[in-house]
Amino acid sequence: MKDLIIKNGIVYDPLNKIDGEKKEIHIKDGIIVDKVNGDAKVIDASGLIVFPGGVDPHSHIAGPKVNVGRSFRPDDKPPESNVKRTKITRSGTGFAVPSTWLIGYHYARLGYTTVAEPAMPLLEARHVHEEFLHIPLIDKLAYPLFGNNWYVLEYIRNNEIEKLAAYVAWILKATKGYAIKLVNPGGVENWAWGKNVDSLDDEVLHWGVTPRQIIESLAKVNESLELPHSVHVHCNNLGHPGNYEHSIETFKVCEKIKPISGRDRSLHITHCQFNAYGGTNWGNFESGASQIAEYVNSHKHMSIDSGNVVFTKYATTTMTGDGPWEFALHHISGTSPWGAKPGVKWVNGQVEGESGSGIVPYFFNPKVGVNAVQWAIGLELLLLIKDPYQVLMTTDHPNGGPFTTYPIIFKWLMDSKSRKDMLENTVSKKASTATSLPDIDRDYTLNELCIVTRAGSAKALGLKDRGHLGIGATGDVAIYKLDPNNYDGHAVEKAFSSAAYTIKDGEIVVKDGEITSKSMGSLICTEGKIKDSIYENTLEDIQSRWRDHYSINFNNFAVQDAYAPKVKIVNGT
Ligand SMILES: [Zn+2]
Repeated sequence: MKDLIIKNGIVYDPLNKIDGEKKEIHIKDGIIVDKVNGDAKVIDASGLIVFPGGVDPHSHIAGPKVNVGRSFRPDDKPPESNVKRTKITRSGTGFAVPSTWLIGYHYARLGYTTVAEPAMPLLEARHVHEEFLHIPLIDKLAYPLFGNNWYVLEYIRNNEIEKLAAYVAWILKATKGYAIKLVNPGGVENWAWGKNVDSLDDEVLHWGVTPRQIIESLAKVNESLELPHSVHVHCNNLGHPGNYEHSIETFKVCEKIKPISGRDRSLHITHCQFNAYGGTNWGNFESGASQIAEYVNSHKHMSIDSGNVVFTKYATTTMTGDGPWEFALHHISGTSPWGAKPGVKWVNGQVEGESGSGIVPYFFNPKVGVNAVQWAIGLELLLLIKDPYQVLMTTDHPNGGPFTTYPIIFKWLMDSKSRKDMLENTVSKKASTATSLPDIDRDYTLNELCIVTRAGSAKALGLKDRGHLGIGATGDVAIYKLDPNNYDGHAVEKAFSSAAYTIKDGEIVVKDGEITSKSMGSLICTEGKIKDSIYENTLEDIQSRWRDHYSINFNNFAVQDAYAPKVKIVNGT
């Protein structure tokens, strides 16, 4: 592979305090260097802007529920989602849940180079990695699910926090995972008994522990293991009117937990839009985003990602480890424009003694008041939180909408006129009366957009080698055709929909929106820091009770190295 020099582009690199400067970027052997000497390929980026490659901290791209989401919706293949094969690429299809190869192609076209799958069931981790092996061009990470796991509940009940830490370290290793994910902690275990939890102090049936204890214990373990990311939490009560108060109570649980040095946060709350609801029922449903933003603006221990809702022509496929929520959604979901009821279909999943899931097709209708308010809340969070490093942009793909719609959200963030146009002409008036969006004039700068889509997400994830263009960073670069001194929302949407160049590890993988490479990217994993003696003792303990938890043999549990031919290990310190 030839070395690369990118010349004449206007560079945005917030982590290195570069905000729209003409600057050369040199890449040697896949890594950004000060200067390439000798023969190199030159990209003339005149008239183009240069960003680090995009980093998505939360997108359901691989694993059992993603695949079920594909297979139970033969309708999710509208003609415009069909992609023909070329000499370089494979064919594929799927709107809300694209087929595996398309996921890599679509992300690369948007200029994204790293994506995290945020809900890996431990027992089915192998499936996540199998799909990763068929998603080209991007680096991938996966977060194993811990919030309803019987070993976790047992160690918390017995106050065996060291053993809990060792168990987490072992799971990260056995599943090739990256971060501690909690989904509706305690609620999904109760769902196995037809129940849920609705407060932090409800009891998890048969275990005598509470969601508060689960969050607090795993957050402490996260720091003791010195993991690169904080705990990644999908709160209880997701999707329910009035849940913003519960969300703030959850934020408070980690206020006093000190993050390891080198990381600012001890808590990440994911797709916060779905947990920022006011009102007491669907009739008086309103935004709770300003209360959430007020808390975040005065507390530095946490970050969120937005979980924006986007209106699309076709229904999306919601999918989550939060089984009881999907059951509720299955009952309340409305009708689609073609008359079918997408919500009548529902999948409920349970993975032995460790997690659950649910899947429901859903159509966000701009004329439906609740959906219009949800749309506004996602934008309010991104616009009301002052420090862009504390709010990352996601749609919780495919829940709020497929990731392919990101450039539409960029338009709304960067052009208040386009938001006003939506409020006046497209969405239900409820978005104007039940949220603060009409009063917000802020327009994101390109620098801020760069933070919420890559610099901030890389930082929150503890991926120090990306999200920036400094010396030593991975050669992941996205170049877009946009005049930084003269653009409107439409120009933003167009530019970010199709990168002029995407460069992965120093190789041009997209040129003028076309895929030019077959490279596969790497898997990124982490290792928890734990004393060998505690680790070994805990492993014995785990094995001694294995048969109470699982129907499979202990020796068949861990994902073999053959499933991850290209691995990067990233540690917290
Ligand atoms: Zn999610």
